[in-house]
Amino acid sequence: MSKAKKTVKVIKIDLEQCNGCRSCEMICSAFHAQERYSSNNPARSRIRMIRRPLEDIYLPVYAGEYTAAECMGRDKYVIDGKEYDECDFCRASCPSRDAFKEPDSGLPLKCDMCEDDPPQEEPLCVKWCLSDALTYEEREEEVDEEEEETVPKEMERGLKSLADTYGLDNLMDTIARMSKKE
Ligand code: SF4
Ligand code: SF4
Repeated sequence: MSKAKKTVKVIKIDLEQCNGCRSCEMICSAFHAQERYSSNNPARSRIRMIRRPLEDIYLPVYAGEYTAAECMGRDKYVIDGKEYDECDFCRASCPSRDAFKEPDSGLPLKCDMCEDDPPQEEPLCVKWCLSDALTYEEREEEVDEEEEETVPKEMERGLKSLADTYGLDNLMDTIARMSKKE
């Protein structure tokens, strides 16, 4: 199988620097609002703060892949004497919690590194994190060509989530109805 270069984009998180200000949630939800910047609702953000001030826990987590099933095992982590809950570090949009789901539609949210139009120099949560808790990094990796992420895969994830929520038949009926209206 032929190989292609892929740019892997990462946001590095420094927990020591995060003060829980939630600017990252605000800018992410505002940038992805429709119309752009017309609202800011942290529930629509693709980065969420796990924030427990009494335990001195401030943990920003940005949204990863959608999964239709809960995971089988969960872990607790104790780091620097602070105990993190089972799902705290998880980036998945999954059935066991509300995080990383669009609140009205229930559709999964996934961080797109702010690659939307207009293109950004760096992810906006990184830019607006004035405490430098977030750092953007890029590296090149070789991947099998057919593994490359494509827009249709994004679409497939959204459709799969709708089918899981409402049933495939209902989804097909709705699409058929919509196509007749156009
Ligand atoms: S990179 Fe962009 S889309 Fe991803 S969490 Fe940050 S602001 Fe949101
Ligand atoms: S903007 Fe930075 S300091 Fe503020 S909550 Fe987000 S990661 Fe933490």
